Amino acid sequence: MTDKSNSAIRGSNLRPATQMVHGGISRSQFGETCEAMFLTQGFIYDSAEAAEARFKGEDTGFIYSRYANPTVDMFEKRMCALEGAEDARATASGMAAVSAALLCQVNAGDHVVAARALFGSCRWVIETLMPQFGIKTTLIDGTDLENWQKAVRPNTKAFFLESPTNPTLEVIDIAGVAQIADAAGAKLVVDNVFATPLLQKPLELGAHIVVYSATKHIDGQGRCLGGIVLSSAEWIEEYLHDYFRHTGPSLSPFNAWTLLKGLETLPVRIKQQMANAGTIADYLAEHKAIKRVIYPGRADHPQADLVQKQMSGGSTLISFEMNGGKKAAFDFENGLEIIQISNNLGDAKSLITHPATTTHKNLAEEVRAELGITDATVRLSTGLEDVQDLIADIDNALAAI
Ligand SMILES: *Cc1c(COP(=O)(O)O)cnc(C)c1O
Repeated sequence: MTDKSNSAIRGSNLRPATQMVHGGISRSQFGETCEAMFLTQGFIYDSAEAAEARFKGEDTGFIYSRYANPTVDMFEKRMCALEGAEDARATASGMAAVSAALLCQVNAGDHVVAARALFGSCRWVIETLMPQFGIKTTLIDGTDLENWQKAVRPNTKAFFLESPTNPTLEVIDIAGVAQIADAAGAKLVVDNVFATPLLQKPLELGAHIVVYSATKHIDGQGRCLGGIVLSSAEWIEEYLHDYFRHTGPSLSPFNAWTLLKGLETLPVRIKQQMANAGTIADYLAEHKAIKRVIYPGRADHPQADLVQKQMSGGSTLISFEMNGGKKAAFDFENGLEIIQISNNLGDAKSLITHPATTTHKNLAEEVRAELGITDATVRLSTGLEDVQDLIADIDNALAAI
């Protein structure tokens, strides 16, 4: 292993596209070009003394892949470079990341405040799982900063939010919420999936912990599940380190390798998917079959000023409400040929979903109404296809309703 093959990128201030290709790389003695995939559970020690030293922490080598693995480590380091985080732990899925980030830092009797517009499984963790362990939780409309302030109690330990939200693409003022969290002595956890690490930097805005489902844009090609929790070295050491080692939500090296390859192309994919989303959102806004388009990149987004302030792009997702209710939404989805019906997002393939009957079907009708999800709401995740083909596909399906 030469110095040159291994030293290039660490701790540098290179721009994101460069970091996504070179960041975190650690080459074996063979000097391979591509990141190596270390499909191993464990590691061999040269002697009993070496094993002892490693377990004592006197030697920093690997011990067991539930704790850390060289391929997973490269993925964590590359994500740290992109996010500007000191440390991270990669997980088997986005939900493993969300539940670890929340559960590792609270005790029975503590209180957690979360914005109510949440991915279904996140909502279940907050609303159902945490109370089973004696953790009190409060769900609020997170778009109004006063609600965060009012929800704080003496025992509030953590805040949780997603922004933009799923599926209505509401935007929450991360810097504003972080200030309230700091004053309350609580840690703000941001699920940054919809914005991606390229379009929004929660840590720079004052959040303490960022989580991702890497299943979405980071893989971006529909291949594997993954997730990651990023924060300060101090927070990871104090709260996540032991939780992670002993509960075992670890990412497989194979998936870490796939996600490393995904990161290499993340900037070009996001740029193109976002350009496609912008063109499609403008087209939909003019169409008579569409009642309302919500796209954070448009000037008519209800929080366009906040989008300008905290995001560097409008994301790859569009929500829109059809004229005519559930039948119109279903007829539209069924009439599409290129755009596929699927609840995943961030993929190279354009995907459409009807939240009321899929991702958000477990919510009571009043709760859906509160979140702005109607029977005529559809969510489009814009892919990498030629945008003119996508518009022709949408046009045909709308004409056939
Ligand atoms: C998909 C998603 C998750 C969960 O991620 P998985 O990888 O499916 O476990 C969490 N939060 C948001 C916002 C998501 O879109």
